[in-house]
Amino acid sequence: MKKTILFLMSDTGGGHRASAQAIEEAIQHLHPNQYTIIIEDMWKNHTPWPFNRLPDLYGWLTGPGLPLWRLMWRVSAYASVQSRLFTFIFPFIKQRGADYIKQVQPDLIVSVHPVMNQAGMEWLNAAGLKAPFVTIVTDMVTFHPSWICPEVTRCIVPTDQARDRALKFGMPAEKLVVYGQPVSLKFAASNRDKATVRRQLGLLTERYTIMVMGGGEGFGKIYKVARHIARQAPQAQLIIVAGRNRALKHKLEAVTWEIPTRIYGFVDNMPDLMRASDVLVTKAGPGTISEAFIAGLPPVLLGYIPGQETGNVAYVQENEAGVYVRRPLDVAQLICDWMTPGNDTLQHMSQNAARLARPQASLQIADELCHFV
Ligand code: UDP
Repeated sequence: MKKTILFLMSDTGGGHRASAQAIEEAIQHLHPNQYTIIIEDMWKNHTPWPFNRLPDLYGWLTGPGLPLWRLMWRVSAYASVQSRLFTFIFPFIKQRGADYIKQVQPDLIVSVHPVMNQAGMEWLNAAGLKAPFVTIVTDMVTFHPSWICPEVTRCIVPTDQARDRALKFGMPAEKLVVYGQPVSLKFAASNRDKATVRRQLGLLTERYTIMVMGGGEGFGKIYKVARHIARQAPQAQLIIVAGRNRALKHKLEAVTWEIPTRIYGFVDNMPDLMRASDVLVTKAGPGTISEAFIAGLPPVLLGYIPGQETGNVAYVQENEAGVYVRRPLDVAQLICDWMTPGNDTLQHMSQNAARLARPQASLQIADELCHFV
């Protein structure tokens, strides 16, 4: 009988599901059809009301409600607050989670979400089952302490900085391993030259190409920055990915653009779009940054979610693999400077981005997971 691997996650942002799917893809690549893999939004599907509605709040909290998010993140990072919160909430969510796990009878549980570690371990215990439990931290540097549950079997982190932080929060050194951020194998496989990819996408082959995006949900100042670029960079062409943000897509489509501009909703050919681009303007999402590194594409970070993405900004800047810019107007100005003949900033950053890339991360993680089952 096939062994079952259960991924515990919740759809807060696009990155947790994308990470789980990347690992699933890698497991299938290494061992086709050998495992039953389930990726489950536990919070939405297996907690009672009103807890099951909390993931829907995430978009608002990390958008208009950002000051409240900052406060919640900081306060809940204190160990005493975290433990009291858990003690208060867990009795309400215990039974359904445990019932689900009992029903699935997993041979391995993998958490790719900060609120699925302690809860996941408790659900497993309440279900009366014994299975190895692996945490895969999908935030690059300043992850929330709730990722760390020292009782898990193994904890996989994306960077050395994340490893140091995990040690600080009590994860035993022998349980920790650094593999990188799990991203789809398609990013490593997409290695055609820019002109070829641009031609296939119907883009102009010789134009400097700027891609603007904001995670899976199309967060941030995408509209403003795209408008500034279109007005200030007549020699460029634009790719704008609005993700699941339909209102933004409609607003972008209503514009008469000054330069050639492609507008997309949620795309599934991100590796090609990244390969086709010279520079990426994005919020500091860990998935997007890691994918851009593989494409040798330096990210211009316009905004970040305070807390879990704060460290990503420093990581990118300290490694000179991209920059953080506060105002959309300055982004356009900066990119225009980089486009000036003789300016090699972009080339320098592109090399540094490629140096930080870990295209094998998903395969290494998949291999490690399969050793547990
Ligand atoms: N993404 C995608 N299509 C889109 C927009 C985004 O596949 O149209 C993917 C992107 O490649 C990345 C993920 O969504 O893998 C976003 O993850 P990230 O960690 O950057 O940000 P989050 O959305 O979790 O805040």
